[in-house]
Amino acid sequence: MAKERIIIIGSGIAGCTAALRLMQEYDVTIITKGSKEESNSMLAQGGVAAAMTKNDSPKKHFSDTFRAGCYHNKPLAVRELTTSGPIVIQKLIAAGMSFDQENDELALGLEGAHQMPRILHAGGDQTGKFLTTFLQNQLTKINWHEHLMATEIIKDHDQAIGVCALDTKNQLHTFYGEHIILATGGLGQLFPVTTNARTISGDGLALAYIAGAKLADMEFIQFHPTLLYLNGHCYGLISEAVRGEGAKLIRKDGTAVMEGVHSSLDLAPRDVVSATLSQEIEHGESVFLEISAVKNFEKRFPAITASLDKHQVPFRETKRIPVHPGAHFLMGGVRTDLNGKTSISGLYAIGEVANTGVHGANRLASNSLLETLVFGEKVADYIESHPVKQRNQPVSVSKPKLLQSPHLPEKQKLQEKIGEALGITRTEEKLTEFLSWLESFDTANNSFEEAEISHMLIVAKIIATSAKKRTESLGAHRILKGVIK
Ligand SMILES: Cc1cc2nc3c(=O)[nH]c(=O)nc-3n(C[C@H](O)[C@H](O)[C@H](O)COP(=O)(O)OP(=O)(O)OC[C@H]3O[C@@H](n4cnc5c(N)ncnc54)[C@H](O)[C@@H]3O)c2cc1C
Repeated sequence: MAKERIIIIGSGIAGCTAALRLMQEYDVTIITKGSKEESNSMLAQGGVAAAMTKNDSPKKHFSDTFRAGCYHNKPLAVRELTTSGPIVIQKLIAAGMSFDQENDELALGLEGAHQMPRILHAGGDQTGKFLTTFLQNQLTKINWHEHLMATEIIKDHDQAIGVCALDTKNQLHTFYGEHIILATGGLGQLFPVTTNARTISGDGLALAYIAGAKLADMEFIQFHPTLLYLNGHCYGLISEAVRGEGAKLIRKDGTAVMEGVHSSLDLAPRDVVSATLSQEIEHGESVFLEISAVKNFEKRFPAITASLDKHQVPFRETKRIPVHPGAHFLMGGVRTDLNGKTSISGLYAIGEVANTGVHGANRLASNSLLETLVFGEKVADYIESHPVKQRNQPVSVSKPKLLQSPHLPEKQKLQEKIGEALGITRTEEKLTEFLSWLESFDTANNSFEEAEISHMLIVAKIIATSAKKRTESLGAHRILKGVIK
């Protein structure tokens, strides 16, 4: 009998985890927008959170996740994440993944809003790169399609049966399968300042929305407090683990920024730290990470050190790194159950593109890599235990809307507008203005670029609409009342 076909969109840790589990028994295709190394997974620095020691427990991890998420999380999803977490990590270690050690024990880092050190890391600050490479090196039985951008989920009645994708020469390709897995990550590139990889601009969210899938919690976007900031530009992330090792946020005059703001000071939840920094910067302050308390900075953070050297930051002399907040992570996404199933039969979502409810209104640091591993496994469990008897047959695909000259904004202009309306602090007035600005544009799929901008427009509209509906601030969604002059 012919094998069931699985199409995975995205080559980050979520997609690769599912692929590794499924490739022996199924015909697995991975379509990815850039090269297979282009993903947020490859950029993850701090590590993976899991309760791995005797004095820690899934229960403690559960309670930290819940508190950071402002109790907006779904309890069953958090329980799944925190109890399966140590199991998937043990499985990875048994398969040969090597996390950093100290005195023959796992070296565990501390990050914001965790009550104890529980962050496993690899290569110092290169956890994502080491983990993605470890998984991809084992993907020997995959039909890889790089530099192909998924532009449509093909449906037959209410069933997802395939994917349309454009190559860089704007040629259309179609793929059919019994199971379509979205693993396209988040949406950082919607914003002018972000930590996210070039290819992460909300495509999977738009594809699911157009196909009719339910999305949830889209107003909750996490802004990371500390991106390297030089001459008005940001250059990637300075991991929260740096504060976990003792760095402090200071103003130009050396005074501590987080003093009197939160009892956890520099390790307060990210929304609190980002909003505080953003206010300081709006009032004309410059903000720095002061690193003199960090032991063996260069050994512990080799990738950050390389980035600082590349940008000629004199941190060895000044002990200061200039920082600025930027868009980092989407808590919302395509609504799924705990098996990754969306509201459309045959369509699944895992990793950052999915909304299982684990993160609530604000993600706890280093819980997202764990999410990719746990739910990458869960979707594989589900598919393996639910064989599909009938193969999906190709159907005629309706041609994408071919507007001769669609009215689309410039990508940079769109990012600026999104940054103004949907950034760290929102107002109803700005959201309304932004929504009416969006109204004037078309969406179109004639080319890679048009499809990307169209997806950004669709996702921006969903975020603005969700943000307007939530009239009270909660977690990462901060809305100011009244008209701001
Ligand atoms: C700088 C940085 C540091 C981070 N550090 C940490 C950390 O220390 N710990 C932690 O837990 N989390 C961290 N995160 C968050 C974490 O990395 C991500 O949430 C996680 O890696 C998401 O994995 P994923 O597999 O869901 O998506 P991604 O790894 O983002 O992969 C998505 C994939 O989908 C592809 N894709 C997108 N659209 C399309 C399309 N239309 N067609 C085809 N392919 C498409 C992309 O090219 C990419 O390959 C960090 C994020 C960043 C940006």
